[in-house]
Amino acid sequence: MRVKINQFLTSPLKKMNNLFKKVDFFVAPPLFFIYFCKKIYFFTIHPPKKYKNMSTRRILAMQDVVNRTPVEFKKNQNQQVSQYYGSKVFGNDAMREFLSEEAYKSIQQSMNEGTTVDRKVADQIAACMKAWAQSHGVTHYTHWFQPLSGTTAEKHDGFFEPIEGGRAIERFSGNALVQQEPDASSFPNGGIRNTFEARGYTAWDPTSPAFIWGDTLCIPTIFISYTGESLDFKTPLLKSLSALDKAATDVCNSYFDKNVTKVIATLGWEQEYFLIDAALYNIRYDLQQTGRTLFGHAPAKGQQLEDHYWGSIPERVAAFMKDFEYEAHLLGIPVRTRHNEVAPAQFECAPIFEEANLAVDHNILLMDIMEKVAIRHNFRVLLHEKPYAGVNGSGKHNNWSLATNTGKNLLSPGKTPKTNLQFLTFFVNTIKAVYEHADLMRASIASANNDHRLGANEAPPAIMSVFLGEQLSNVLDELEKAVHAGKLSPEEKTALKLNIGKIPDILLDNTDRNRTSPFAFTGNKFEFRAVGSSANCGWPMTVLNSIMAEQLIKFKKDVEALIAKKIDKDDAIFHVLKNYISESKKIRFEGNGYGDAWKAEAKKRGLNNIPTTPGALEAMISKKSLQLFEQLGILNHREQEARYEIALETYTKKIQIESRIIADMVNNQIIPSALTYQKTLTDNVVGLKAILGAVEFKKAADTQLSLIKEISERVAIIKKAADDMTEERKKANNLDSAKKQAHAYCEKVKPFFEEIRYNVDKLENITDDATWPLPKYREMLYLR
Ligand code: ADP
Ligand code: MG
Repeated sequence: MRVKINQFLTSPLKKMNNLFKKVDFFVAPPLFFIYFCKKIYFFTIHPPKKYKNMSTRRILAMQDVVNRTPVEFKKNQNQQVSQYYGSKVFGNDAMREFLSEEAYKSIQQSMNEGTTVDRKVADQIAACMKAWAQSHGVTHYTHWFQPLSGTTAEKHDGFFEPIEGGRAIERFSGNALVQQEPDASSFPNGGIRNTFEARGYTAWDPTSPAFIWGDTLCIPTIFISYTGESLDFKTPLLKSLSALDKAATDVCNSYFDKNVTKVIATLGWEQEYFLIDAALYNIRYDLQQTGRTLFGHAPAKGQQLEDHYWGSIPERVAAFMKDFEYEAHLLGIPVRTRHNEVAPAQFECAPIFEEANLAVDHNILLMDIMEKVAIRHNFRVLLHEKPYAGVNGSGKHNNWSLATNTGKNLLSPGKTPKTNLQFLTFFVNTIKAVYEHADLMRASIASANNDHRLGANEAPPAIMSVFLGEQLSNVLDELEKAVHAGKLSPEEKTALKLNIGKIPDILLDNTDRNRTSPFAFTGNKFEFRAVGSSANCGWPMTVLNSIMAEQLIKFKKDVEALIAKKIDKDDAIFHVLKNYISESKKIRFEGNGYGDAWKAEAKKRGLNNIPTTPGALEAMISKKSLQLFEQLGILNHREQEARYEIALETYTKKIQIESRIIADMVNNQIIPSALTYQKTLTDNVVGLKAILGAVEFKKAADTQLSLIKEISERVAIIKKAADDMTEERKKANNLDSAKKQAHAYCEKVKPFFEEIRYNVDKLENITDDATWPLPKYREMLYLR
């Protein structure tokens, strides 16, 4: 391409030469200058004809890609992570340094016990936070929250305040720290408020520390309506964590360990993502507007050689990874693992696990950081669940467990029969909880994006099931058999406990991993693998915590009922666990979750397989789900119904946008380029006809004629489908409920996508590469 550009430049230079020959030597330089300026001016405003078409933009973009080199970044390479880790967080060290003893104690208590910070202390904390932030050059602050639109929201305010005499001071009051009133009318609320009561509050969450991003102090907050309903992901998550803490601590105290005073949920997420060069991204409107490619023929070489997974990381990508990890470490996000994923241009990063609320904040913060840092490296990061058809999609595996204040992981077997019974209790209760609320779990990961993964044979299926591994399955089966009706004899109890005592050894050799299960036990935690890569994992975690809290409360009640009948404690626990094991058997599945055999088997077992979002979301407002959240005080039915509406509306809007982009691209890019190529063919045919005899002509023009015909046919199909799709959209928009609209978009509008895409991709395959406007899969997926 460089050559081509030079060719273009040679013609004015030739003209210049001629000019030089003709004019006086002294007037030549100014003339040259004027001539050249004019040329540059005209080139920028009116590119020469041959650079006007789309395909040239694609070719120029590819030239950018080919000439890229890794971008250096500012970190001092000799510094160890420990030297700067968390330095932009108002964490323990900063608090100790900047806060008075009283304020420090108050905030610690609030973090550990959920108590509120009193206003006077809040004033002190705010002043200290400001001083700390200013020492880092910060000028602004924002309440940072997670509205139901799925991204984070922030409105930056300056610390400065004008005072008399035309001067200004920097101020940050306790009030500004604790509470703000953003205009809530522009955030999704599912009809909780009409626009007349547009006030909503953000309120400080002291359990997640404030941090600095750019020149702004960010304060994590919850977001609630004027009337107290939650309008974000964080509020129910915090409530679910507190419900789970209460229920789990109670079970520990009652039967296993009196020293436990707090149980937290831990979360370690694994974030998958794609990278694409920014130059290519910028000329794919579908990627820009929807996050995924709506067209594109599969490349000859995709992931079939499996040579990308854990392969060597391309240098440009490594530079990007180091850069965003550096930013993450400054913010105290413990990212530690990086590697290539299965698909070409796909990667993963994972942190060390943390308390779930903090982990969720860190995950969304990191997604934001990755997007910003990628731009510095001339990349765009694609967090969409399925940016490329026919290529593996991206998930966000949620590794979840429970930890006590005494440092015990409740899903990890211990050294004594007693701690193993505790392990077994939490283990079996998790399985039972998922069994009871499988549909709600499915709903918690439902989105237009994730529909492309679930049920496609590459990601966990839309059927909820739990994988335990052969050894633990055997332990449960044996327990089920051994515990019989009536009291257990002392010998039987000893045998059972001995059997459980073997668990730690079993788990040590248990390298059993089932990558096809949506919810798998992996030795000391459960891994919820079906969560989508772009999702806020706060919602699936809220569901998991809630169902576990409800289940543990029920467990205690069931055990107490037996104890009341004079059955001893261990005996009662064994009996209840046995019942749970029997009742929840259906949800356990050890086989291949991708296969059709599982679909048939699941159907026989009566497990639901709901492939699309509008159907899956129903479980959010089932009687069982409403009751679950209401009884635990996590979401009242109004809040839950509002969330359901918002999820439906979000689904509809996503499909609507995709559908519009498809029609735009078909009409403005694809059909014109196919017709341009068709014109080349018809010109060729006309030329041949003029110079050849009838017999020769037929032979020489045969291929061209069939290509001309194929282009016409495909263009006609595409155009008709795009028009019909637009009509279906109009009908769907006129429906009178969010539910009907979502179903219409799913069942009436979306099916056109396939038909249009199929024909567009065929056109891509037969059209002259030089005239095709869209970067191709082979170009987008291969990074150097
Ligand atoms: P993999 O699942 O890929 O084999 P690991 O077992 O090392 O990898 O863990 C993956 C993720 O699980 C990491 O993010 C890690 O922090 C997290 N993890 C490990 N232990 C726990 C735990 N007790 N609670 C929550 N997450 C955990
Ligand atoms: Mg994993």
